[in-house]
Amino acid sequence: MGPPGAGKGTQAKRLVDEFGMTHLSSGDILRAERGSGSDLGRQLAQYMDAGGLVPDPIVVSVMAKAVSQNHSGRGLLLDGFPRTVHQAQALDEQLAQAGKPLDAVVVITADEGLIIERITGRRSCPSCGRVYHVRFMPPRREAVCDACGTALVQREDDSEAVVRQRLANYNRQTEPVIGHYRQRKDVQVIEVDGGGEAGQVAGQLIQRLRRLQEHCG
Ligand code: AMP
Repeated sequence: MGPPGAGKGTQAKRLVDEFGMTHLSSGDILRAERGSGSDLGRQLAQYMDAGGLVPDPIVVSVMAKAVSQNHSGRGLLLDGFPRTVHQAQALDEQLAQAGKPLDAVVVITADEGLIIERITGRRSCPSCGRVYHVRFMPPRREAVCDACGTALVQREDDSEAVVRQRLANYNRQTEPVIGHYRQRKDVQVIEVDGGGEAGQVAGQLIQRLRRLQEHCG
């Protein structure tokens, strides 16, 4: 969890490389549905392009399906979900019914000025999903993916006005979810400062999660 631009997607990829769990990004799943041209996709576009949250019943149903279809032996890393207390409660119920524990909640923090700079400069590869930044992590050839040579794109909701709206939503609707998990004795909440260089943040996270893994046996 963390505000938009804290580095959730970048860190999620590194954690998946390190621990081998399946990465489920609600943003990626919703964008794929949106791009499919389905009726649901058209409904999603109106919320996503304005920087608003997609209503809980839609997200809960889409993510419940993804969680149940992807329960691999090495576990799941949920990225961008849950984003409201209601979504967290729905996930709690689903995991309890499936007898699957929620081991840890990772919170990545970052200050607002840095978030705006990070997001407005963010570019991603529409083909392989790799994420770049025009200043902090530029590709070798301008606007072209290093990994697969595809032209990089900017997400429609990465403009400054939309980012400010997304930040306001985060503070109002998503921050309370952290409190929801802090109240639970059986869930570890691991918080790191996402303001540093991506490799350093990943190092800290991996160390904390390794410790937790050893502790859990
Ligand atoms: P992200 O890639 O995580 O920043 O998500 C992009 C957009 O997808 C968000 O601004 C929301 O419109 C929508 N979205 C992603 N995850 C959720 C969620 N858990 N609840 C509601 N809307 C979501």
